[in-house]
Amino acid sequence: MDDKTARIVIVGGGFGGLFTALELANTGNVTLISDEDHFLFTPMLYEYLSGEVEEWHIAPGQKELLDDQVEFIRDEVVSVDLGQQRVSLKSRSAPVSYDILVLGAGGVSNFAGVEGAAAHAIPFRKIADADLLRRRMGSALDQVPPDLPPQDTKRALTFAVVGAGASGVELSTKMADLLRDAFKRRALRGEPRILVIEMGDQVVPGMGAEIRELVEEALLQSHVEVHTLTRVVRVGEQTLTFEHEGRQTEIEVAAVAWTGGVRVSPLIESLEVEKTNRGLLVVRPTLQLAAHDNVFALGDIAFFEDASPTLAGTAQLALQQAGLLAKNIEALLNGRELQTKHFAELGEAVSLGTERAAVLAGGKVFGGPLARQARFALYTSRLPTWHHRLRVGASWFFEGTAPRPLLPLGMER
Ligand SMILES: Cc1cc2nc3c(=O)[nH]c(=O)nc-3n(C[C@H](O)[C@H](O)[C@H](O)COP(=O)(O)OP(=O)(O)OC[C@H]3O[C@@H](n4cnc5c(N)ncnc54)[C@H](O)[C@@H]3O)c2cc1C
Repeated sequence: MDDKTARIVIVGGGFGGLFTALELANTGNVTLISDEDHFLFTPMLYEYLSGEVEEWHIAPGQKELLDDQVEFIRDEVVSVDLGQQRVSLKSRSAPVSYDILVLGAGGVSNFAGVEGAAAHAIPFRKIADADLLRRRMGSALDQVPPDLPPQDTKRALTFAVVGAGASGVELSTKMADLLRDAFKRRALRGEPRILVIEMGDQVVPGMGAEIRELVEEALLQSHVEVHTLTRVVRVGEQTLTFEHEGRQTEIEVAAVAWTGGVRVSPLIESLEVEKTNRGLLVVRPTLQLAAHDNVFALGDIAFFEDASPTLAGTAQLALQQAGLLAKNIEALLNGRELQTKHFAELGEAVSLGTERAAVLAGGKVFGGPLARQARFALYTSRLPTWHHRLRVGASWFFEGTAPRPLLPLGMER
């Protein structure tokens, strides 16, 4: 193996995999395999739902981002043979051999065995999920005539979000603002009902008290109903059943969005290597698997000890690890000593509806419309490749970031 000819295969084109591929552009023969043809900047999926950003801003094509030196294969890796050093793909009969493997397959929604959830709840992890949720909001609105009494309108326009982590909070406040705007445009009576269902005793667990205060204030102002210490027991086609203090309640819902947890990708579940009790791959401080020098893992599927606890399962961590991982592959190929690093929290930014956000930067927390602008600026700087950052930054600066209203079906573009 040398640094010019080594076959480096990266599985997963998300924050960990794509950024590793970008860092490695001049090392070995790099192949990135991912089951989607685009990268997704997940922190702005809420803004995609609300139309504040467009698909090309946050989901640029992999081929557009990658250098010509990196081969991109759009396919699903169905198995990894660590002994033979090859991966098998869903739609190709020939496996792909590697000298060095990078696993960055990320997570999938965890419905935690809740009855009906996998079939009826809408996960919120991909562009297609946001499209589906937007369509469901639009079609529910289309079925409500302006003269319907407020209580019937509210029943017909009830939406539930499961999970009150950052994701559930960001999603519910966006939905509330979008629906409230649609109420005005369509002259509907009353207001929509948005519930957030959370098993724990507070919203955004793991975030600091100052940022939580801003989040709670935004939820209140958006009229989002927060039900803590409440467990979802069943999701039906148009119903949701939850339990609080031993009592079950069933309500009618237009849609249930699921942000209630993540588990590792099924590919990683099938790998027989050392894992934590949550199924995460145990990696050494160098990001190598414990028993395989030539296999690295990062991001949501890897358990890395030397990182601030708030970073587990975040893009921030995957991004930072990609830099270390690429350097360690170069070191491995050049016979140098592999390095490690402590990963620290880079700050937090939570969108709170279409007009404001809460940002923690440099140890200070601030909220409101200014925080929303700061979040856009911060995220521009974290998009992949400088030319994509420039294009997106210019588009937001010159064309604005106003939300796209939920227009009647047929008028939506
Ligand atoms: C809606 C949402 C909002 C978020 N907001 C934030 C935020 O504000 N800040 C933050 O720090 N983090 C945020 N996160 C978390 C962040 O997205 C993840 O921590 C991060 O994406 C992890 O990076 P990764 O490379 O491990 O996985 P991912 O980015 O998920 O990438 C994994 C890639 O691998 C592909 N893949 C999976 N299995 C296979 C297979 N078998 N074969 C081929 N390809 C495969 C997937 O399609 C995907 O493209 C958010 C997540 C979501 C869903």
